Amino acid sequence: MVVRKQFILVSLVVALALLFAAAAPARGQEQPQPPVHAVAPGDTWAALAMRYGVSQEQLQAANPHPNRYRQPVAGSTIQLPAEAAERTGLLRRPAGSLLRLAVATNQNPWALARLNGVDDPLRPNFYRPIYVPATEGVPQDLPPGFASLELSQLPAVPGQAIGYRATASGVLSVTARLNASLMPSFVNGDRVVGVGATGAFFYPGAPELSIQLPDAPLWAQPWQFAPGSWDYDQLTLSGAAAEIDQEAIRAEGERLYAIWSQVTNAPQWQEPFRYPIESYLQISSRYGARRSYNGGPYRTYHEGVDFAAYGGTPVYAAARGTVVLAEILYVRGGAVLIDHGLGIYTGYYHMSEVHVTPGQVVEAGDQVGEVGSLGLSTGNHLHWDLLAAATWVDAAAWEAQDMGCWLLEGWGTPCSEPERG
Ligand SMILES: [Zn+2]
Repeated sequence: MVVRKQFILVSLVVALALLFAAAAPARGQEQPQPPVHAVAPGDTWAALAMRYGVSQEQLQAANPHPNRYRQPVAGSTIQLPAEAAERTGLLRRPAGSLLRLAVATNQNPWALARLNGVDDPLRPNFYRPIYVPATEGVPQDLPPGFASLELSQLPAVPGQAIGYRATASGVLSVTARLNASLMPSFVNGDRVVGVGATGAFFYPGAPELSIQLPDAPLWAQPWQFAPGSWDYDQLTLSGAAAEIDQEAIRAEGERLYAIWSQVTNAPQWQEPFRYPIESYLQISSRYGARRSYNGGPYRTYHEGVDFAAYGGTPVYAAARGTVVLAEILYVRGGAVLIDHGLGIYTGYYHMSEVHVTPGQVVEAGDQVGEVGSLGLSTGNHLHWDLLAAATWVDAAAWEAQDMGCWLLEGWGTPCSEPERG
């Protein structure tokens, strides 16, 4: 621990020194900075070209990439040509000809055609977005029917739950994916939310977020992922702990995975998620900590957050939900699983006592059990985990980023203040 702190301090000093070194020569000079743009969802090359009154070719020349069909990465920054001048307006995908769009938006069809480089305003145009001058709004190339689209983090971080929230009209179902992984998506009237996960071994980069609506072209844009920072734990197993029953571990995991894969289509929680324990000594292992057993390679990582605490310390539900498992398990000891809806589950493990029963609806802060060391555990602690899309995510980051309220507001429900007492 001490070594790590010193290392961080030294890194900070070096980083600051580099920062000042880099900043110093610029001081006193009057070099205009080239304009840049922070890429948001919907900022495709077409949308940005229309927004800044330049051509897509000019934009792409200022931001070379071997694949010109790849859209700008949400969460990254791109260079704008010097002549870029921002203008307001809207993008529309006409259902039919440009003429119909012109009539619907009260525009001169010939002027709209000229502005968008369209030869024939009567020709059907299903895929090309059309810039419509407007007094407010910025051109954004969003999935068909979407009026807005927000991403939970820009950039995102591997291992943390990710989500999107959108307003849309006439949308009945949405299929969203990050690369090949499904992000379960939920429609509530004119609102859409999706929540997904990558896992702590996910390689940082710019995976593609794709959104598919029935009978519409696929919408896709890369999403920037920054590297995570991980602990490295070396564990030594000996004696009974080294002779654990692998088959029992596999069977228990399979049984829980079947539960986590079930998705309840509405959020059950109503307020911010909270830590499941108030009195603890320390967080003894963070989510995503790489683990080496008996000097072997770091092949696994810690899937939850460990709170070291005295035996008997009360353990509380992190948020409102339905208890879907409450029993003593071989690996996880005294275990409680809560379904919060939208594919979000929390789990509480190694408890000596379980105070709830399956089917019971618990409120945030209701006691679910007591800290213990049952199951495959070497001492009293609470292992707390959180899953989204049947994948372990960083429960501490979920709490710190207030993801629960972010999604709930996207769903159209205000997040109420937690009760104190
Ligand atoms: Zn643990």
